[in-house]
Parts: sequence; C-alpha cells; structure tokens
Amino acid sequence: MAAAPALKHWRTTLERVEKFVSPLYFTDCNLRGRLFGDSCPVAELSSFLTPERLPYQEAVQQDFRPAQVGDSFGPTWWTCWFRVELTIPEAWVGQEVHLRWESDGEGLVWRDGEPVQGLTKEGEKTSYVLTEKLGEEDPRSLTLYVEVACNGLLGAGKGTMIAAPDPEKMFQVSRAELAVFHRDVHKLLVDLELLLGMAKGLGEDNQRSYQALYTANQMVNICDPAQPETFPVAQALASKFFGQRGGESQHTIHALGHCHIDTAWLWPFKETVRKCARSWVTVVQLMERNPEFIFACSQAQQLAWVKSHYPGLHARLQEFACRGQFVPVGGTWVEMDGNLPSGEAMVRQFLQGQSFFLQEFGKMCSEFWLPDTFGYSAQLPQIMRSCGIRHFLTQKLSWNLVNNFPHHTFFWEGLDGSRVLAHFPPGDSYGMQGSVEEVLKTVAKNRDKGRTNHSAFLFGFGDGGGGPTQTMVDRLKRLCNTDGLPRVQFSSPERLFSALEGHSEQLCTWVGELFLELHNGTYTTHAQIKKGNRECERILHDVELLSSLALARSAQFLYPAAQLQDLWRLLLLNQFHDVVTGSCIQLVAEEAMCHYEDIRSRGNTLLSAAAAALCAGEPGPEGLLIVNTLPWKRTEVLALPRPGGAHCLALVTVPSMGYAPAPTPTSLQPLLPQQPVFVVQETDGSVTLDNGIIRVRLDPTGRLTSLVLVASGREAIAEGAVGNQFVLFDDVPLYWDAWDVMDYHLETRKPVLGQAGTLAVGTQGGVRGSAWFLLQISPNSQLSQEVVLDVGCPYVRFHTEVHWHEAHKFLKVEFPARVRSPQATFEVQFGHLQRPTHYNTSWDWARFEVWAHRWIDLSEHGFGLALLNDCKYGASVRGSVLSLSLLRAPKSPDATVDMGRHEFTYALMPHEASTSPCWRCPPQARHPPPPGAPFQCPRPQSCWRPSSRQGPVGCGERAGVPSWARPRPRPPPPPSVGGDQPPGPQAGPEAVRGPRQPRGLLAAHVAAGSGGRPL
Ligand SMILES: [Zn+2]
Repeated sequence: MAAAPALKHWRTTLERVEKFVSPLYFTDCNLRGRLFGDSCPVAELSSFLTPERLPYQEAVQQDFRPAQVGDSFGPTWWTCWFRVELTIPEAWVGQEVHLRWESDGEGLVWRDGEPVQGLTKEGEKTSYVLTEKLGEEDPRSLTLYVEVACNGLLGAGKGTMIAAPDPEKMFQVSRAELAVFHRDVHKLLVDLELLLGMAKGLGEDNQRSYQALYTANQMVNICDPAQPETFPVAQALASKFFGQRGGESQHTIHALGHCHIDTAWLWPFKETVRKCARSWVTVVQLMERNPEFIFACSQAQQLAWVKSHYPGLHARLQEFACRGQFVPVGGTWVEMDGNLPSGEAMVRQFLQGQSFFLQEFGKMCSEFWLPDTFGYSAQLPQIMRSCGIRHFLTQKLSWNLVNNFPHHTFFWEGLDGSRVLAHFPPGDSYGMQGSVEEVLKTVAKNRDKGRTNHSAFLFGFGDGGGGPTQTMVDRLKRLCNTDGLPRVQFSSPERLFSALEGHSEQLCTWVGELFLELHNGTYTTHAQIKKGNRECERILHDVELLSSLALARSAQFLYPAAQLQDLWRLLLLNQFHDVVTGSCIQLVAEEAMCHYEDIRSRGNTLLSAAAAALCAGEPGPEGLLIVNTLPWKRTEVLALPRPGGAHCLALVTVPSMGYAPAPTPTSLQPLLPQQPVFVVQETDGSVTLDNGIIRVRLDPTGRLTSLVLVASGREAIAEGAVGNQFVLFDDVPLYWDAWDVMDYHLETRKPVLGQAGTLAVGTQGGVRGSAWFLLQISPNSQLSQEVVLDVGCPYVRFHTEVHWHEAHKFLKVEFPARVRSPQATFEVQFGHLQRPTHYNTSWDWARFEVWAHRWIDLSEHGFGLALLNDCKYGASVRGSVLSLSLLRAPKSPDATVDMGRHEFTYALMPHEASTSPCWRCPPQARHPPPPGAPFQCPRPQSCWRPSSRQGPVGCGERAGVPSWARPRPRPPPPPSVGGDQPPGPQAGPEAVRGPRQPRGLLAAHVAAGSGGRPL
C-alpha cells in the first residue's frame, strides 16, 4: 500500500532525485548504477603505433603487438590502431550488448573495413552498440579496429585549451570491455533528468515545476533499481506527465542536429579530415535509428575530404540527403572569416560551395550558415542574394563584450539595400545538449518575443566535432509537446526559415555590418598569413583576367579552369575562420604558409603563360610589355630590368586593362616629367620630398612633420603633431590571446622615439626620391623604413621592414590629420562603409579597433587624408588620428606567432575631394588603390602629361638626362637590424617581377609593340 501523502521539502526532494540518477554518488544502489549489467573483457587487444595518418587498408596490414587496458601511447598527433577481438558470452542472448571503450584521444571504430562510429569521452561517446538484441543464431565473435588519434576533441593544449599544444602528451586506454546495456534504465534516466530540469528551470513559483518534481519523486518511490519489473510503472508515470499537452500559443523550437568542425584550429587540417569521419559516421548511425532526426552539415570542403578519403561514408550521406535527414547547409566552401576575405573571394566561397552541393547533393543551399565567425561584413547580404541565398544563421554576436544585439530574428540589410532574413538561435549556442535548461533559455532569451514564435536549437558537440548523441535525441523526442515547455520538433533549416518568414511583416531591420565586439585582434594576428592572403587574392585575380583576355584573343589558348579551381579552393580553405584570422596553432600556420607558396608559384606560372599568349605576335624588337590589370589608365614609376641584372627606373603609362611596351634604352627620348621629385636634406637632418603634387617633410628621426597638397596648399598633418609615429601598446587580453585586443590597451600607449640623425637620403630625386631611417622599437625589436615619393604620384609610400621579438605588445603607426569629421570611411568587400570617429555611445566605443581592407580615409568637405596598405587589416580612426595596426605578439595558441622579420608597405594620400559619396569627387579619391598600384593623378590638370605617343619615359641610364634624373651614388646601406636581409633603400624600387610587383602591373617578356593598346 502506498504511503500516505506527506509534506515534501523542495530541496531535499530535488536532491533525492538527483542522487537517484547521479553518476557519482550512490551508484552502488541508484538507478544510474544499473545502466550496464554484466560485463567481460575483450578476448584480445593488440595495437600498432604510427606517426602517420594511414588509410585503414594500410594500417591493418601492420604489425600489431599485444596491448592491454592501462597502456599508454603517444605522443601528440600520432595514431594508435587497436585490434579488438571479442566474443560475446552465450548467456547474453536476448540482451543489448555494447563495447565500452574509454581512452584519451579521439577514436573511430572500424567494422568490416568501414568506419561505423566515433568514440570520444569528451563527446560522450564511450560505447559502441554491438547488437540491440543478441539473437540465438547471431555470430558472437567479431574483430573490430579502433583508430585512436593522439589528440582530444579540442587538440592537445598544454595546461589550457588554447595553450600551444604539448608535443609530448601521452594517451591511455582506460576501458575496453563488453557489457549488457539496460535500455529501460536509460529511458528512465532520461525522463528523470528532464523532470529534474523542469523542476529547477521553471522554479518554485510554477505549478508545473511542482508537478514535475512530484512525478519524479513518485517514480523514485516506485522504482527499485534491483527489480526491473518495477520500471514499467515508473515509466508510465513519466509518460503520463510528458503526454500532458501545452496550448496552441506554445513557442516552437526547431531542433537541428549539428556538429561544428573547425576546418583547422587547435589541430592540423589533416586531423579535420578524420574528425569529419568520426563525427558524421556517428550521425549516420543516429539517422538510421531515428528517422525523424535531421542533421545540418556545412562546409563543402569537409564533404569533399570525406568523399575522397571515405567514399562509403560519402555515399551514405548522399542517401540520407535524399531522405531529407542529412541537410547540407551554408553554401560556402568553408565557414570563412566574415571580415577579411576580399569581395571576390567571398563570392568564390559561394561559387565553389554551391557548385559542390549541387553536384553531390542535387541542390544548392538557401541559407548562409556561419555560426562561429568573428563579425559579418555589411556587404554579405548582397553577395548572399547574388548567390541564391535568402537566409542567414549565426549565434556569434551573443559573444559581444559590450552591447547586447537587440534581435534574434530580423532582416539584415547590406550596403546596397539587399536584405536577407537572419536568425540567431536564442539559446546563443550551436552546441546544445537537449536539456530543459537550454530549451527554456531559448524561449526566455528570445529578443523578438511577440514578433515570431519559432526558434532554432542546434544540438551536438561542436568546434572539434563530435556531434549529437542518442541521449540528446532521446531528450528532445520526449519534449515534443509537453505543458510548461515550448514545443520541440526535429526540423530542417528550410522549415525553420519558412516558419520565420510567416512573421516577416513583424520583423525589424538591422542595416550595415554585424560587428562582433570581441576578437578584434584577429585583424592583425599572424601578419604573414594576412600578407599571403592578400597577395594570393591579387594573383588569382590577375591570372583570371589575363587568361580570359588571352582566350578572347586566341581560341588556341587553353583556359586553365581546373588549375584555377584548385588554386581558388586552396586559398578559400585558408580563409577559414581560425586560419586567416591567425587564431590557429603553429602547425596550421605553417601549412597555410605552404599553401600560399603553392598558390604564388603555380599562380605565377599561369600568369606568365597567359601573358605570353596574350602578347604573342606583337611586332617589334625583343623587350618587355607592361600589363595593367586594373580598370584605369595608369602612369607609374617602375624598376625595369636591364642587361647584367641592373635595373633602371622608368615612368610608364599603361592603358586601362591593357599593356604597353616597356621602354628600351635605345628607344628612350629625353622625355621628362614637368615636375621631377626634389629631395632636400636640411642641416638639422630633416628631409623634404616634393613632386609638385605633394610635399613631404620628415623630421630627423623619420616622423612626418608636414604633408602638403601642393595645389591647394592644404596641410594634412594636425597642427603641432607628427605623423608616421610608431606606437607600442601593452596587449594582454582577458583570455583569448591571439583573438582579443581589449579596450584598455589604449591606456598603455607609448610612442616609439627615434634618434635624431638616423634619417638619410636614399634615392636623390628625379623620377623617384626617398629617405630612409632605422628605429629601435625596443631592446629586442627594430624597424627600418624607406619613405618613397615618385614623380606624378599623389601619395607617399612607406616601405617598412620590422624585426619583431616581443611578448604581448601591439605595434601601430599613427597619422594625426588636420581633418575633422564624425565619420571615417573604411574599404570593405566591393565597397566602403563609415564608422564613427568618436566614442559617444557604447556601440561607438566598442569599435575601438576595426577592420578594413586596402584603405581608410578621413575626410571633411573638400579635403581628406587616406591611409593605404598592402597587407594589413586592423585599423582605427579616433578623433582625427588615423591608425594602422601593424603587429601583435600573442602567445596562444601559437607561441611563435609573428616573431621574426616582416615586410609591408603603407601609403598616405592627401586629396582635395571628400570620400563622401554625396560630394562630387574623382572616383580615384573615393577608391584609392593600394600602395604599389598607383594610378593617374586625381587632379589631371596638375599632372605630367605625355608628349609622345610612346608614353612618358624617364630613365637614368640615358645620356643627356638632366642631373637630377640620373641615379645618384647611394649612401652605404645601413647596418642590418637583424640576421636577415639588410634593410635600406635598395628594398625600395619595385622589381618588375617578384614579390614586390605592384598590384595590377605586370611585365611580360615578349616582342614589344609600338604604342600602348587597350585589350
Ligand atoms: Zn569555429
């Protein structure tokens, strides 16, 4: 007879139930302790250790040695293959039998030559179901292989997750046995945990909370762990409770299985290939067992890896895609960073991604899926819409440090007014576990209550892979419709967004960028990766342009479509959100550098082939052609090769997207610019460079004391201030070292002061003038810089070499401008946007460090100053100070990041017109090109004009050239500031070929024609 009703103490009742399901307490007598029944060791265990990531067929041929539970193996990044021979006891007929496996490292079970399930403690997958019910006739002996990677789900950080990996880490197998699994106990445990979750989550003021608690308490009363026959009654109680339905107004949660796999991060690319297999083969198993379960999978690159390494698994994924359970999402090649890739590269992400999805899964994606990246460019809505995508999902803005983003469901409007429907799962995670707490959070935190009644709920272990578990699926199934909680349904992104679209007239609109108020250091960390990215984007652009033109000119030209696709995919891969951002381990950074080298080398070969084909048949003597791949006519100074390895400077005019013959010494006419560059060094050591367009004055330490736009007489440098001022900041974030630069770093600003007398004249004038100096940044780090002004050029360039050996320091260069504006302009993909120069509101000051592409500009009516760069992305404009972020020195997750030699160029351009689109101004001033890609002067009336159809040429090799135009004996090169290449003025002139090639101007060895011609 049941006990009489009694008063119950809330806390003790709750804890009583907790102890009944606890994996830690009272497992000798509680329900959890009954989850597994009889067990026995595996019949035989042997292993083979290798530093390689071998294919299965090769691995199983190796020499396996006897092993046992407790054995250690390693070190980090190695692989230990285990052969597991097992025999299930006959007495277990009729029972569900599991292989229980616990080891450090990530495991993958192979059965009959195919991967069948991942095994990772961190991902709560420690048992493999051998049979759901052992039949009388079933074979009871079996051989399995378990491939264990010597790394955890999140790599092998020494001490903390984001610390650099510990190369000596050892791993251990702690369990390998067969056991009977009690499915009825599992079900009761799931129910009791959900009831506990409701009791706690709904709180003591809520009637349903008490109903949940009392039901759970009653189940404990009824249920005797040692008497399985008591379980059905307890189960019935739970079913009755969960069967009590909610009302029509319940919020609907769309549960989507997901598994965020960083394409490289705290582990190398190659490990990601295996992470995909481990995660997705487990998903296949879940899809088989749970026909209602739907899994959303992004990143075409990862699917392409699985296709080539695990073709059987790929075929299964295609099968489940046909059934609608496996849903490819995102539309991109990888989940790229949302800020740094160029517009063209972003389009390529979709082009390559959508093509792959269409080819392999029969349809393109309709949503862009980027849950984990560090901000989203204002240009993305237009790019998405142009690539057939109308929906967008992320959750990362929940990481904002300062401001809470006001929406979870809204329209996002981009630069050109394109709109997409955006959704942020209100639970602020892409790695839910299916708990009641998360379900309640999803409803409570939704900032668009009243506007929409649907939310996404992404569940499954993520970042390092792992994915959903059967327990998560079981929880969510139980919560399909119960009073007190939102309705939960397994859903697809398509169903989610079409439900959200049903409320579209209620939704608000957010215009412009989705700026993440965190991780602002990722615009600067790992300068060499950034440089590789920018350079390779440029090379691939040029290859495609020249190849297209070559094809248009000659049908015989073979367009390198396949090679270009390979190279683009390689570049896109490295735009993954933990690679181009520099937030990866050293191993990944090294791989990325190899990828860039590969693109440079193969890209330049294609470039030469296209240029040769394009210019073939040109009449005239052997010589060089200069090709301009930018869409405007350009007149620039180039260093042209001469016999014997010498170079000479020449002023060359090349039509828009066209080419012109390079001048040969014999063809040179005494054609001189109207205004050569004058270089004057004063007795105090300061140097003035003047080309008639701008006049630059450097103090004896190399700082910019004056920059005058000659025609207007306007001074660009703020009164009493100096530009080209290097500044050093302490850069110690709160945790995310490679990622974060915090606002308080601004309080530690220290100008780097040089020594008077270090400034020397480099190139002494004529077509080019320059001055150079050395600067000791700190006892360990040095800098050398050549400040260069070319004839006819509206900006001054700063070729910079730094030997950087710091810890947690941040180097920037500042230019205080004599310009006042509440907004500065920053180049982004295919456009520009404006951001405030003040800190009025929290939204303003949260953007103390922002990203930009090739230029930033501060303009007032009629006058402005632009700061250009060849490979930088971090910047800020505060008040009137333009600041370019140059180098950081974080130590995690790569302890070596950015140490060593760097070379980069920035440039400064004063201009008359405003960058504001509402004011009339030449397009060049609104869109100045990067350094190294000088263009025609925006004020043509003051420019030098060619007086010959052959174009303007000034070359110091020719006799009769005025003395200012002749090359001067250079000053002795300055002492090397490090162990590498000596710095100094010889680094200044652009080589005609090679890494200093100006963007868009290419030289090709072909027969030179008569005049320049457009293509
Ligand atoms: Zn990620």
